[in-house]
Amino acid sequence: GSVLPRVAGRALAPAVAPFSTESGETIRATLFPGDGIGPEIAESVKQVFNVAGVPIEWEEHYVGTEVDPRTESFLTWESLESVRRNKVGLKGPMATPIGKGHRSLNLTLRKELGLYANVRPCNSLPGYKTRYDDVNLVTIRENTEGEYSGLEHQVVRGVVESLKIITRQASLRVAEYAFHYAKANGRERVSAIHKANIMRKTDGLFLKCCREVAEKYPEIQYEEVIIDNCCMTLVKNPVLFDVLVMPNLYGDIISDLCAGLIGGLGLTPSCNIGEGGICLAEAVHGSAPDIAGKNLANPTALMLSAVMMLRHLQFNDKADRIHNAILQTIAEGKYRTADLGGKASTSEFTNAVCDHI
Ligand code: NAD
Repeated sequence: GSVLPRVAGRALAPAVAPFSTESGETIRATLFPGDGIGPEIAESVKQVFNVAGVPIEWEEHYVGTEVDPRTESFLTWESLESVRRNKVGLKGPMATPIGKGHRSLNLTLRKELGLYANVRPCNSLPGYKTRYDDVNLVTIRENTEGEYSGLEHQVVRGVVESLKIITRQASLRVAEYAFHYAKANGRERVSAIHKANIMRKTDGLFLKCCREVAEKYPEIQYEEVIIDNCCMTLVKNPVLFDVLVMPNLYGDIISDLCAGLIGGLGLTPSCNIGEGGICLAEAVHGSAPDIAGKNLANPTALMLSAVMMLRHLQFNDKADRIHNAILQTIAEGKYRTADLGGKASTSEFTNAVCDHI
């Protein structure tokens, strides 16, 4: 039987794509297998897509071994061009190379592709027991500014300063996206998460922008929740939340808290929304060097990210089939990977998912 309907009533990714998939043509998408366990789990996605007959042709790009002066990072210019051209892609984890003279890979992607919103759905997985059975929320994180603007300096010896930048433009853009997402996905409420009682100017402006956008969406309920209260409520009763929108740093922290509610990093997908309708889906976890190359990684997070990408492309039928196969495999329990307490290898789990498609 299908285990999907309980969570599938709500689409994971917004229907904002300028794609037409009705003509039966093949869609080109960029694939960054990434580092560490990345290539193994990217292989799992390719296998699953093949079995499901997804008409996607991948343009694969690996992280370079030296700095590309055009991007000032280990990412090649060609790989960024590929995403800009295709407007859709899937990204495995990328290890942050240590050393000076280059930009972080994830920061380069965010800046160069204008990835302004990170969308992370958190849904309880049927049959996989955690403290709560019915978590069904989405965090939407502003991805370009806040405390992550990289503006830090020493004022005098023993005193440093880190600037938090909030702009009207970026706040309106992410708020607009959150409400658009809520509406397109049949969700009822958007909660803006803030600390405006202390950060009066910065979070105050963020809230003001959220309120402005909220007025344009009378069908969606709007509330404002102080971040400390939000954390407590998420841990005590996460079902009270629906869509949460927040500045960068809060989003980074709260989205991992939410991942923990449903079973951890091996399970949580995400999607970055960029300028010009770019959708770059990615697993939330890192390159897991401790288990890389051992056929032990759980490919679920990257598979579910790929499902988000398919929904964005409006390949809803394929997305449902793959999503359902993943959930069924986990629910049955026979082929769970080690992070979920099972004994299955990456390839055994992947084969089991393929058998359910
Ligand atoms: P990590 O997520 O790679 O690993 C944390 C723990 O979770 C490890 O024990 C790992 O084995 C486990 N884990 C992670 N994903 C798993 C999966 N799919 N299946 C089973 N177990 C899994 O975090 P880290 O060790 O802090 O970071 C390693 C590298 O990844 C660093 O270079 C870091 O900068 C990078 N990183 C990249 C991204 C990204 O590309 N978005 C995100 C986080 C970390």
